[in-house]
Amino acid sequence: MSDTHHHTHSSADAEIRAKALESLLIEKGLISTDLIDEVVRQYEEDIGPLNGARVVARAWTDPDYREWLLRDGTQAIADMGYHGREGSKIVVLENTASVHNLVVCTLCSCYPWPVLGLPPNWYKSYAYRARAVREPRKVLSEFGLILSEDIEVRVWDSNSEVRYLVLPEQPAGTETLSSEQLIALVSRDSMIGVAHANGPV
Ligand code: FE
Repeated sequence: MSDTHHHTHSSADAEIRAKALESLLIEKGLISTDLIDEVVRQYEEDIGPLNGARVVARAWTDPDYREWLLRDGTQAIADMGYHGREGSKIVVLENTASVHNLVVCTLCSCYPWPVLGLPPNWYKSYAYRARAVREPRKVLSEFGLILSEDIEVRVWDSNSEVRYLVLPEQPAGTETLSSEQLIALVSRDSMIGVAHANGPV
């Protein structure tokens, strides 16, 4: 049996086992299909960068909230209902015309789950973890973000105690957009610091 075939086979087996386990739990009355559907839905729709985008859009439109967010990210984020696992302390970093913040976890893959969901593969890669600190401008340019020399780049190393969320700059010309329209401009990457928020469409 080739390796490829073996892998395909294994993942199919895993799916079958997961389905069998799910059926068994439902049959025994330990869990409902509704609950399983709800958990999957939460991970797909609620727990993901959309939470962070809602935080950013609120900070863009509400100066008091912005001030609170920068002073006590954890509490200000919890105010929107986002807290819990892998997010017990979240520090928010403000990008400005003169400072650009970039987040990494040099040791492993610490990431603010309640606002960004699960980290992308590149965030966990050895190359990103090593190079983000050593040559941040080069890494950013590979993401397509070229920063002029007069912008200070600050790199923040996440750990199990502190997770970071970047508050990207609000793009010019978006002052009159609705909250929903602003949320759509805030990408996951802009909240890690490897991109700017998207401009108005
Ligand atoms: Fe880590």
